[in-house]
Amino acid sequence: MVMSPAGEIWADPTARTVVLGRGPVPTGDPMLRGDDLGVLHGDGLFETMHLRQGRPWLRDEHLARLVAGAAAVELAVPPTAALIDLLDEVCAGWPAAVEGALRLVCTRGPETGGPPTVYATLAPVPAASRAARRTGISVATLPLGMPADARSALSWLPAGIKSTSYALSSAARRWARRTGVDDALWISSDGYALEGPTANVVWLTDDTLRTVPAATTGILAGTTVAWLLAHAAEVGLRAAERMVTPAELHAADGVWFTSSVRGAVEVHTLDGVRRVRCPRTPALQALLGFPG
Ligand code: PLP
Repeated sequence: MVMSPAGEIWADPTARTVVLGRGPVPTGDPMLRGDDLGVLHGDGLFETMHLRQGRPWLRDEHLARLVAGAAAVELAVPPTAALIDLLDEVCAGWPAAVEGALRLVCTRGPETGGPPTVYATLAPVPAASRAARRTGISVATLPLGMPADARSALSWLPAGIKSTSYALSSAARRWARRTGVDDALWISSDGYALEGPTANVVWLTDDTLRTVPAATTGILAGTTVAWLLAHAAEVGLRAAERMVTPAELHAADGVWFTSSVRGAVEVHTLDGVRRVRCPRTPALQALLGFPG
């Protein structure tokens, strides 16, 4: 048992939920209305952050992406200060030694109208995510069925938002499981690698870390990859954005998937072809502050 700042007793210190305007809710208890548009339509936004030493890493970057996404989908998220208070409440008393996956969810709320539904959940980082940092992952390419610039060319479509509508990502990850690989990498119909269902792709060639441009492709602009590329010089590397084909990835000195909870995990096998492990992986993980 632990005490939240408001004096409530957390039923389970290893997994927590706090609802804005309501306070802590036992994680196993129901807390959404049946007509919540987040449930009915996947109409909402979320962020997942890495909690380290009890504090969310890149919190402000995640909140900025949420706020930008909210403007794009006309969702009235509460003021940032209220979101920070919510995060502080759910994180309070979390053991510093335990890595956490902190999620902030904001849905459009009840179908009949009303304020958005806003809550935060916190749970330990799954063992599989921690293991992937050490072992790396196998990845298979998966056609997305549209050209790389199709989404960004549609002015009505908010691109690059972190929507709770994850049906496409879930389908891709189920496909990966059925195919016997750890993850998928979407390929545009004009032959470019875009992103994974929950991660950006990063590769190393000529001492330059590169990733796919988000602005022209409509992929999610990842907070992890942005930070990694902004700090590449600290490990003697340059940084750049450009389009990439699977053939170029096969020829790269290193390929990683980056995301908030896993950090940077090396792709050890791409489309069944085993890659030579990149000696830079531990340095990149250390740069990002993730235990290897
Ligand atoms: N791309 C997609 C589709 C994602 O869902 C995610 C994270 O969930 C990422 C990229 C990586 O983003 P971040 O590094 O901000 O977690």
